[in-house]
Amino acid sequence: MITVNPRACTGCRDCVKVCPHAVLAMHHKKVAMVAEERCIECGACQLNCHDGAIEVTKGTGCLLVIIRDDILRRGDGGHTLATPTGV
Ligand code: SF4
Ligand code: SF4
Repeated sequence: MITVNPRACTGCRDCVKVCPHAVLAMHHKKVAMVAEERCIECGACQLNCHDGAIEVTKGTGCLLVIIRDDILRRGDGGHTLATPTGV
């Protein structure tokens, strides 16, 4: 799980640059989460934020991304598979 605190953000963009899954973006010069479902909880954003504006709690993010991608890749005889909201 990832938590961002735009109030503590000084707008350096380092977290956006290091995120391998484009989870973060800048919005009015502050960090914003734009695709939380893609976060693999690698911690790179938190590690590179020197203002303490990001907190990453290791959980099941990586596993959920892998499972979701695998399900979507396999498909179901032409049917579109749904994924749980927020996963
Ligand atoms: S934990 Fe990793 S994947 Fe998630 S937002 Fe931060 S850098 Fe991106
Ligand atoms: S690294 Fe920290 S201070 Fe820099 S943009 Fe990201 S959240 Fe803001």
